[in-house]
Amino acid sequence: MAVFVRHAPSMLAEHLPELRSALETYRASARSEIADGERELARPAVPEDEGIAHGAAADLYDRELRLTEIRRFKRELYEIEAALGRMRAGVYGFCVDCGRPIPLDRLVARPQAPRDLDCARHTEREAAL
Ligand SMILES: [Zn+2]
Repeated sequence: MAVFVRHAPSMLAEHLPELRSALETYRASARSEIADGERELARPAVPEDEGIAHGAAADLYDRELRLTEIRRFKRELYEIEAALGRMRAGVYGFCVDCGRPIPLDRLVARPQAPRDLDCARHTEREAAL
């Protein structure tokens, strides 16, 4: 097991309950966004009488947008679950790549953040390639 550099332990510990409840709130809202989106998608495409005004292409575009949204919330949900898992494992707040402590202000802004800023930038650059 990796040896982590410790956070100023009291600092993080002090904020853990608040970070956990933020994660739980985000998780609930991501789940309901996904459910809403999927319910929306499950509806029949275009009602007969709206077909002409709305247009099949526009409808397809709407569905495409919704799918993209659902995908984004699923990714979000995955990150949130992973962060809650790291909390349970006692390794929350450390970058999953380099193991350094993630600055508290970053965690407060984005409690599901798996990486510090340096590693996150690196990962995004790779993802963009
Ligand atoms: Zn890192």
